[in-house]
Amino acid sequence: MSVIAENLSVVRSRIARAAELAGREPSSIRLVAVSKLMPSEAIREAYAAGQRDFGENYVQELVRKAEELQDLPELRLHLIGHLQTNKVKAVVGSVSMIQSVSSVRLVSELEKRLSVLPKTHGTRWPAPFPSERNASQTRLPILVEVNVGGEAQKSGCAPAEANAILEAIEGSPHLCAHGLMTVPPFDLDPQQARPHFDRLRLLRDELGGVGRLPELSMGMTLDLEEAILAGATLVRVGTAIFGERPRREAP
Ligand SMILES: *Cc1c(COP(=O)(O)O)cnc(C)c1O
Repeated sequence: MSVIAENLSVVRSRIARAAELAGREPSSIRLVAVSKLMPSEAIREAYAAGQRDFGENYVQELVRKAEELQDLPELRLHLIGHLQTNKVKAVVGSVSMIQSVSSVRLVSELEKRLSVLPKTHGTRWPAPFPSERNASQTRLPILVEVNVGGEAQKSGCAPAEANAILEAIEGSPHLCAHGLMTVPPFDLDPQQARPHFDRLRLLRDELGGVGRLPELSMGMTLDLEEAILAGATLVRVGTAIFGERPRREAP
């Protein structure tokens, strides 16, 4: 077994154990393998071991990997990093889910760019949750990224802005709101991260609950158990699967 395959099986066991502790079905939690700064070969190895969802932070890198990995029919690339309006056009044809939408302006730009893609684009988005929503695969799944940590956290919208962004998505024929995502401030230990996860779940409940927002994307290598206890349905795990990342070169 390759190192990546072994690491994946360790992470899957961690997820299963945390699910059991939380009294949840392990299958209600989806693993997104965060492959940013890792070569496409690493994604191939994980794919061979059954992994299908991958998270990327940078648009150029995501688009390049989507091309290099075109032969993997069930590959799903999630954008989990900051998206600038001027990069929307580049990314919309290659991505299966955007987890980092944090402004109404970005929603408008996404809708505009998606509306002019050829109709066959749907086949490039294997919907992450085909049984639950979006069965027609004509709407790009979106999560709204929320900054529930205040000052210390840089990315995401304020909790008070989330509803307006969700309404904008719901009013966009090429987009589909699946839920909320958060990235706690760096350098928190797992116990410190937990209140952030709880806050995201409470916000989801205030905004209409699982009927409107079935997915909560939260939890990474160090704190995925805490996130699952708090209700995560998507965990984004990089280091535990692919090892330490190389430093990012200046673009
Ligand atoms: C890098 C990254 C991750 C993965 O972090 P690890 O600690 O390596 O598991 C998850 N989410 C986001 C948004 C990231 O940027």
